[in-house]
Amino acid sequence: MEAFANYEIWWVTGAQMLYGEEPVRIVESHSKEMVEGVNGAGVLPVKVVYKGTVMSSKDIEKVMLEANACSKCIGIITWMHTFSPAKMWIHGLQQLRKPLLHLHTQYNAEIPWDTMDMDFMNLNQSAHGDREFGHICARLNVRRKVVVGYWKDAKTLARIAVWSRVAAAWADAQDMLVLRFGDQMNNVAVTDGDKVAAEMQLGYHVDYCPVSELMEYFKKVTDAEVDKLVEVYHAEYACGDAVLTPGTVEYKSVWNAAKAELALRACLEAHGAKAFTTNFDDLGTDDINDPQFVGFDQIPGLASQRLMAEGYGFGAEGDWKSAALYRTLWVMNQGLGGCSFLEDYTLNFDGSNSSILQAHMLEVCPMIAEEKPRLEVHFLGIGIRKAQTARLVFTSRPGKGVTATVIDMGNRFRLIVNDVECIKSKPLPKLPVASALWIPMPDFETGAGAWIMAGGTHHSCFAYNVTPEYWADYAEMAGIEMVHIDENTTMESFKRELRVNDVYYLLNK
Ligand code: MN
Repeated sequence: MEAFANYEIWWVTGAQMLYGEEPVRIVESHSKEMVEGVNGAGVLPVKVVYKGTVMSSKDIEKVMLEANACSKCIGIITWMHTFSPAKMWIHGLQQLRKPLLHLHTQYNAEIPWDTMDMDFMNLNQSAHGDREFGHICARLNVRRKVVVGYWKDAKTLARIAVWSRVAAAWADAQDMLVLRFGDQMNNVAVTDGDKVAAEMQLGYHVDYCPVSELMEYFKKVTDAEVDKLVEVYHAEYACGDAVLTPGTVEYKSVWNAAKAELALRACLEAHGAKAFTTNFDDLGTDDINDPQFVGFDQIPGLASQRLMAEGYGFGAEGDWKSAALYRTLWVMNQGLGGCSFLEDYTLNFDGSNSSILQAHMLEVCPMIAEEKPRLEVHFLGIGIRKAQTARLVFTSRPGKGVTATVIDMGNRFRLIVNDVECIKSKPLPKLPVASALWIPMPDFETGAGAWIMAGGTHHSCFAYNVTPEYWADYAEMAGIEMVHIDENTTMESFKRELRVNDVYYLLNK
């Protein structure tokens, strides 16, 4: 949970002086108790810090500007204990640039029927105070999440936890560099897009890194470092005799793959990059028989698999949008389970069990593996280097999950989210790659049909435990379109939604 430990969420309580100083003192003490309680519940991955009760436009503007300037602060939770006349919030909200969660809760759970008097009423006014606040957010068109529920309830805390994880991923993305080794795969449309718009809207920056520069890191990797990493491979994965025996083609191929991993990691670290893309046609000096040859002898697929598990965003064939989205998914998903970059590979028509095989040439993250991944070497005949190529082979564990992609529609980014169910896959003796097999919701025909109708990529970012609520929070923070294909989707309603969204984004440029 390293990434979460560096962040904090600010809690700001709204009130006013109308009822004198005593109620305000009580508001303070209640707020402190609530923040302690929320932290103490152990559900939120990020620490909540109480930043005081605000009672004037100046107070509010001050705390909002401080939040903007504080690199640790990833978002603000607001709650109106008493009535908080919302004109006070205008200047502050107009300037807030961090994600906002409006918590509609109340200090006490149940109405104290027998003892409730006007003092109690004046104090416990979130029922209308939060509506006043909600109004000004709506009027100002402030992007936010509204969470309604008692602050001690597990359900309420779980929804705040989702938002906290997304806010952490959002903060992470504002400081994200995506390095591209090679360009997009020629002529591919769906993985390309406007990198300027992406930086303006989504925060991350995309740079090109010549493969010749990557090769400078490759040259500096020592044999001892490679030997050490090969030992790690042998310990972590199931390996056959050929992979374990020095002198074999397999051993050498794995050794070269380890050297590529060390070069890639060194280059990414030197640049401070959090994500990267590769291109199978750009792997260093073209002629492997050239005495001056410096280059990968194979596609660095094993490196991509392992770097994904470590948290680096990855997109194949120059797909920088997927690389950035995977990094965001990985941050949100920390400690929750497996996630991976995947590609719609091939279809399996089988009546009501019709499904889509998810795989890639090599690059699937071992975090979704059902069993210990096998480290294997096989010939790969795609790309500039047709060679014996190391890779981790496994099938994913069955279970429900969610996959997502971002596409560039020209006037906006569209996030497409689909609930899927991973089912048991079968061995692929002649296709030794990592894979998952899933049925898109609500069924194969509607799920795949809606995804295609929305213009979704063949690449997507999948996780078992990152629910659509995470993606909804992400789309809200980013201010991008989201369409969600779930068990209730029909093509008729989905097409209508796409058309309504087209109009919305024409009117709201
Ligand atoms: Mn691909």
